Amino acid sequence: MSQKIAIIGSGLSGSVLAYYLQKSASVSLFEKSQGVSGRMSTRSFADFEFDHGAQFFTARSNRFNEFLLPYLEGRTVVEWKPKILTLEKGKDPFKRLWYEPHYIAQPKMTSLCKAIASPKDIKFRTRIDRIFQKNDRWSLVSGDEIVGEGYSWVISATPAIQTRELFDASGISLNGLSEVKYSPCFSLMVGLSSPVQLNFDAALVKNSPIKWIAVNSSKIGRSPHKTLVIHSSNSWAQDNLERELSYVQDQLLRELMGLVDLTEVDVDHLDLTRWRYAKVSKASNQDVCLNSSLKVAACGDWCLGSRVEDAFLSAVDLYEALTKSLKADDWLKT
Ligand SMILES: Cc1cc2nc3c(=O)[nH]c(=O)nc-3n(C[C@H](O)[C@H](O)[C@H](O)COP(=O)(O)OP(=O)(O)OC[C@H]3O[C@@H](n4cnc5c(N)ncnc54)[C@H](O)[C@@H]3O)c2cc1C
Repeated sequence: MSQKIAIIGSGLSGSVLAYYLQKSASVSLFEKSQGVSGRMSTRSFADFEFDHGAQFFTARSNRFNEFLLPYLEGRTVVEWKPKILTLEKGKDPFKRLWYEPHYIAQPKMTSLCKAIASPKDIKFRTRIDRIFQKNDRWSLVSGDEIVGEGYSWVISATPAIQTRELFDASGISLNGLSEVKYSPCFSLMVGLSSPVQLNFDAALVKNSPIKWIAVNSSKIGRSPHKTLVIHSSNSWAQDNLERELSYVQDQLLRELMGLVDLTEVDVDHLDLTRWRYAKVSKASNQDVCLNSSLKVAACGDWCLGSRVEDAFLSAVDLYEALTKSLKADDWLKT
């Protein structure tokens, strides 16, 4: 019988790790939200869709480029070539150029993880609070309920702070978690009622609480209903992190209306996400986070950096470290 492995978190790192491990092990994924993708997810309200987390990704390593090939061929991943400007109040906008390919998943950002994460056993809306070991096998606990048992390995693919909370609650210490730091970000999602004309597909904003504006609906494969995704700067988000969300929403909308030709009449739908752990500002010192005697491990963008590609590479690094160090146990036999 194959080994049973539990992965907690179905963002890109958890999805990629599951993709590799399930070739020779029986993998269960546990996810606290209602779908895969984590910080690469898409939110929908009626006809409006918003990629409210990662906006695009780049691929600088051979490994990521090779992995993406079939998804590029199948057009789940496409290159995004927006008209992109730099905006600053009181100054003329200027056109920016990108010097490397920037990719998006389509028809939504979520589509990449959906295509990758294919274990038969995925439990959504299941937040893992604690794990415990009995007779060399791990059980996973959500609230007061045991939601999975009999696992030889447990791997957390959640942000470092959430991984630390989980392992602390389980009496486990794993090196490399405590030095990781994050910056927050707010995403304002604006659904427009009228066909407002903006002279860009995306804009980087300087000297403003807003750092990024994307005309989400201009991305390839999106619903035609016009939508904007606005990201606050990380420092503004830090200063306003505990404010009422309605206050944050008002401030960002007001700022947006000062930057582009838009009035409240044009706005049909508004929503806001507060990402407490949006961007890794200090990554871990070690590439692989693993305790082979306890049989627990962790991965995520925070191991290597702060981008989608880092999440991918950390999952691949962990997969390789697991197979290498445990080959002697023949642990991946079927
Ligand atoms: C606003 C924003 C903009 C960004 N822009 C870009 C960009 O343009 N380009 C780029 O390359 N990167 C960008 N990023 C970063 C990128 O999204 C991340 O690097 C990447 O998605 C991280 O993937 P991950 O698998 O490591 O973690 P995550 O995507 O965070 O996945 C972790 C998963 O674990 C789940 N989880 C957490 N705790 C538990 C628990 N206890 N039990 C069960 N499930 C749990 C979460 O719900 C989540 O699904 C952005 C991020 C944000 C937030």
